[in-house]
Amino acid sequence: MKIIDLSHTIFPEMPVYPGTKPPVFSIPCTIDQEGFVEREITMYSHTGTHVDAPAHIIEGALTLDQVPVDNFVGRASVLDLTLIRKPIISLGDLKSCEAMVKKSEFLLLHTGWSQLWGKKDYYKGYPVLSPDAARWLGDFQLKGIGVDMISVDEAEATDFPIHKILLGQNMIIIENLTHLEKLLLSDFTFMCLPLKIENSDGSPVNWGEMKRVCELDVCKLAEALSGMVWHGFDKWNISFQMRSKGIKSNERLRCKGGKI
Ligand SMILES: [Zn+2]
Repeated sequence: MKIIDLSHTIFPEMPVYPGTKPPVFSIPCTIDQEGFVEREITMYSHTGTHVDAPAHIIEGALTLDQVPVDNFVGRASVLDLTLIRKPIISLGDLKSCEAMVKKSEFLLLHTGWSQLWGKKDYYKGYPVLSPDAARWLGDFQLKGIGVDMISVDEAEATDFPIHKILLGQNMIIIENLTHLEKLLLSDFTFMCLPLKIENSDGSPVNWGEMKRVCELDVCKLAEALSGMVWHGFDKWNISFQMRSKGIKSNERLRCKGGKI
């Protein structure tokens, strides 16, 4: 079993949400003085790769310590949106991968935005779900939605409509994920276990990590498609992945109900 770390490192100069402060580290205990080293860390609860609890946006909703621990682990899929090139992820974009959403407990949106981590362009211009797309996700058994961006709402948002819709449908939100490209076309278990902080609106995930159960090489897939039955993939996702790899043989893909 392979484990992939999907989180950013927490350090004092790291990127943070505009208007919040980066973490402050001090070392009050040292091996020289006390015989052990221990850091004092001061940081916002939504620093780095983190989970949003419903109470983050909705008054009186569940805090992270009230969310069952089971809700932080589950089957997941990565939706490749790297070629979407538009500011809104529409309901139509999601409906074309309904089979993938149906089988998932976590849907992770891979926009490629994590490549901008540490750059000023990271904070704006990323694609966000339309309100009706976010509402549609509530029709499934999803425990959470993860994104490789700083927020599920656009940078200019002040009333956070997509947060409200997703969290209002009893999902958690995971923001600032990275390395999602390593999990395209994979079936895997996603884990985003937060710190158990009383009344917490959110928490960094100390190991936003995945267990990859299987991985397919896209080039090999292109060679071996005809007549084979694959579980858990759909034409839309495979087609997008192949285009992103510059493979021109999409026309060989025919997929219906998991059969290519
Ligand atoms: Zn957050």
